[in-house]
Amino acid sequence: MKVLNFGSLNIDYTYRVNHIVKEGETISSNGLTMSLGGKGFNQSVAMARAGIPVYHAGLVGEEGLEFYDACETFGIKTDYIKTVTGKCGHTVIQVDDKGQNCIVLFGGANQKNSKEFVDEVLKNFETGDIIVLQNEINELPYIIDQAFAKGMTIVFNPSPLNEQIAECDLGKVSVFIMNETEGQQLTGMTTPSTIISNMEANFTNAKIVLTLGKKGSIYHHGDDEFYQAAFDVNAVDTTAAGDTFTGYLIAGILKKMPMRQVLLMATKASALAVQKEGAAKSIPFMSEVELFNM
Ligand code: ADP
Repeated sequence: MKVLNFGSLNIDYTYRVNHIVKEGETISSNGLTMSLGGKGFNQSVAMARAGIPVYHAGLVGEEGLEFYDACETFGIKTDYIKTVTGKCGHTVIQVDDKGQNCIVLFGGANQKNSKEFVDEVLKNFETGDIIVLQNEINELPYIIDQAFAKGMTIVFNPSPLNEQIAECDLGKVSVFIMNETEGQQLTGMTTPSTIISNMEANFTNAKIVLTLGKKGSIYHHGDDEFYQAAFDVNAVDTTAAGDTFTGYLIAGILKKMPMRQVLLMATKASALAVQKEGAAKSIPFMSEVELFNM
């Protein structure tokens, strides 16, 4: 059984500034850091660090060669990463002295997927293989339809939630992983229990995982429902918490661990991630997760 993550590859340019630039103003920045990210990339890193051999499919622009090396270093298979003309997906982030930020997102190569590229990738996968998806790339409705037609198991993190999701046939999804905001936007409900009931009513056969930040997470499937508390740790940067959780959750499902153990493992992994600065680089290795004890 193979695992394919068809998702975004993004370069984040973070500028340190005294204050966030105002309309018409020009300011100097005090520093620039560049990091590789995107929900797709981060989740592939989390799966790789959890010990899962993962194929990443996605597009990078002409300045995206670094992704190939980074993926090899992290242990992510690059067979289905392709370079296209134009720029990589990227963000321009300003972070001020108070830690407030503002972000401009440019979709770039992440929005250049074609049906031909999707077909070219999916022809290498078959019934029983797993496909992991987020919502930072175009052609998502087509990917879901084609993966389902092949009999692949679809794991979907509906993030960020936008109009493209309304075009997706979500009845084809086997596992939903989402945070409270996404759950609210997707269902129109406001509390965890009503979000879960609404999801269950609409997607009866799907496994549903709702994450609640430092309040923990809930798992629901049929008659099986339980709550997992988060660990009370000193969080310094929660950037990749959800991506870490998702990667470890998929790793646990693949290893056929009981769901309670799967959620506990994902919760430990994200508790470690929030204690470190950064996105991909904050994602722990399985060896660290196994040692985590509180
Ligand atoms: P996202 O990053 O997608 O918004 P959440 O904020 O719900 O997702 O976080 C996902 C998981 O990460 C939570 O279920 C929890 O286990 C863990 N987590 C998030 N924030 C914290 C925190 N401050 N302390 C400990 N664990 C956290």
